[in-house]
Amino acid sequence: MKWYTEDWSEECKFSIAYDKHLHTEQTPFQKIDFYQGKEFGTFFTLDGLMMVNEKDEFIYHDMIVHPAMATNPNIKNVLIIGGGDGGTAREVLRYGFVENVVMAEIDERVFRLSQQYLPVTAAGVEEDPRMTLHFEDGLAYVKNAADKSFDLILVDSTDPISVGEGLFTTAFYEECHRVLTDDGILINQHESPYFAEYAENMKKAHHKIKAIFPITHVYQYHMPTYPSGHWLFGFASKSLSPLQIDEQQWQSYGLQTKYYNTDLHRGAFALPSYVREKLGHE
Ligand code: SAM
Repeated sequence: MKWYTEDWSEECKFSIAYDKHLHTEQTPFQKIDFYQGKEFGTFFTLDGLMMVNEKDEFIYHDMIVHPAMATNPNIKNVLIIGGGDGGTAREVLRYGFVENVVMAEIDERVFRLSQQYLPVTAAGVEEDPRMTLHFEDGLAYVKNAADKSFDLILVDSTDPISVGEGLFTTAFYEECHRVLTDDGILINQHESPYFAEYAENMKKAHHKIKAIFPITHVYQYHMPTYPSGHWLFGFASKSLSPLQIDEQQWQSYGLQTKYYNTDLHRGAFALPSYVREKLGHE
């Protein structure tokens, strides 16, 4: 038995046993490693950090997609920034009324390797006629996108380091604001309140988004293989609140979801006091 270990902080490490190191590759953007173990199945890391695994990917991909889809029943055009494993696109494509999904993923190798080793997230995504893949920087993509051309932007990025850094900037969030329709929603990977480095990233992102969008919230979910297990998404919109949803409308879609439900939706936005303080909530 061999061990994959991620440093969660200077003095805290997280390890997963694996049987096979399926693939390793250095791309122009990052180092990609795919492993296979018993507890979490097949998983991959980017620059040594856990990204996606078969066992808990359903949690992340339910929670990046369904809260926004339950808030706005008129989402037709969706932009995914990052999301190279395909799991976010998979969940969006389950909505029959969604007409057009664009994925701007900087590293094509993440997607191609996910198609090969992680069909649970990537299978069927490219083949869906509504899907358009752009292998380019998400910041460059939004800069060239037309005003009010998307109803939903999902930023499924790595952390604000290396290639991911540009996706946590004011310039990026301002472009997202311009590209979203009047009832558009931005969901961003919002880091975590627990370990200092991630909490700093969380605060910085929240501060930037609050300065641009009139409605901003943060919601939480339990993600066992991310540092501390307590992970967040940001919800920003120009007009719609995630705290007033039509639960019957969402339930009428008949989607079977292993993590998300409309009761949990409400609870996800009820943050611990220490998190509210860090976010500067009154
Ligand atoms: N669920 C994972 C997490 O929360 O860390 C992230 C999923 S996905 C693997 C993250 C993707 O963001 C990667 O495929 C990476 O290549 C992509 N990415 C990073 N920076 C990017 C950028 N500037 N533009 C587009 N995609 C980017």
